[in-house]
Amino acid sequence: MVWIPALVEVGLGLAAFAPFLVHRFSVGRWRKQAIEYPTNTEVLPLVTVLLPVWNEALIVKKKLENLAAQNMRFSLLVIDSASTDSTVSILNSWLKEHSDAFEATTVLEMPERLGKTEAVRQAIASLEDQNYQGLLCMTDADAMLPSNAVLRLQGWFADPTIGAVGARALRHQALSGERTHRSMFEMLREGESARDSTPFLEGSCMMWRHKRFSSQQLNVHSNADDAQIATGIRLNGLRSLHDSGIYFEDIAPTSPEGQRRQKIRRGQGLQRLLVSHRKSWFDRRLGTFAGILRREAHFHLFAPVLFAAAGCAAILRWSIITLAGMPNGALAALHGSLALIELGCLIAWLLNRQGIRVPLLTTLGTLFSGMEHLLVAHWHSLRGRSLHMWDQHSDTRIALADSEELN
Ligand code: GDP
Ligand code: MN
Repeated sequence: MVWIPALVEVGLGLAAFAPFLVHRFSVGRWRKQAIEYPTNTEVLPLVTVLLPVWNEALIVKKKLENLAAQNMRFSLLVIDSASTDSTVSILNSWLKEHSDAFEATTVLEMPERLGKTEAVRQAIASLEDQNYQGLLCMTDADAMLPSNAVLRLQGWFADPTIGAVGARALRHQALSGERTHRSMFEMLREGESARDSTPFLEGSCMMWRHKRFSSQQLNVHSNADDAQIATGIRLNGLRSLHDSGIYFEDIAPTSPEGQRRQKIRRGQGLQRLLVSHRKSWFDRRLGTFAGILRREAHFHLFAPVLFAAAGCAAILRWSIITLAGMPNGALAALHGSLALIELGCLIAWLLNRQGIRVPLLTTLGTLFSGMEHLLVAHWHSLRGRSLHMWDQHSDTRIALADSEELN
């Protein structure tokens, strides 16, 4: 009897894992033909920087100074969602004192907080009303940019086929597992960009052609507004690229629990995005991008469930063995090998959760921790819990406000 759960376990495990290997292999190949940064960057569309804020009194001044230190001029559009601290008054008095910091400045104030995506939607809609023709650069209050970031992103738009570009994250004080997660994440984004487009960009620092994305495309009940925009731009016919040549810096939540919460929230946003575009997974007109969406759908939607099911099959197998005794011959060998693999997976996962790095096991552990977060995100969705409005990780704000290194 024990061979049935063993077979199910192996089958599910392979079904979950194989696409990761396939994508890793494709990405390795794709990355070899990196996209060239345009050289004819003399005439470029104008830039408006969009800054959504909610209760950022601790860091808003630092953010404005950071933006004002960019080596180019642009307009600033801030949208506040009824902050309950002094964000707006700090903002307004800083802007009054530094009236020449930006080309033009607009501050929109929402009467209530409806989540970041709704704020972004309203900001984009306000530019649609003005028939704005330029580029929109979105950035988070807690993201610090090097002084050439906006100019570097703008340069990409000399290429008329490019519709959105995002920067790489440099996350300070992250748990060690996060570094592995980051480098894996970046490699995938780079490969996807080189081949066609990546569906996921980071809203902490990204830019897109305003006219090529409509505010109506945003699902305001979901987060991951940045990935919604990147994917939407590609579905509207232009490319969406991850540029490792430029970065933004921010600070990870200080506790493992905080980092977990942030990842689960992000995961749910990506899951919803992928589900909402399920028709595009098989859209031939999208070429390779449809395949990229299919693989990402596997990683974010199906793989977590398959791994969990494989885990259940393992538990069943162990129960049968405990009750009926160890089988003989070839089955014992199969059982022994499975036990070893399970032990490896379990150790990798548990060490990663504790933030402990061990060579070889780190990548596997990062994968399993990611799967765990996505499974929890599924669970929240099943229970009808949407994470699109979140409590701020105020520890990151305190750390950033105090940081002399980041400014
Ligand atoms: P995290 O990095 O995913 O933890 O998200 P953050 O809490 O850092 O938020 C990213 C950006 O969105 C910051 O600039 C926040 O001030 C802003 N933000 C978050 N929620 C809201 C909201 O409800 N309305 C507006 N206007 N901005 C928001
Ligand atoms: Mn943040």
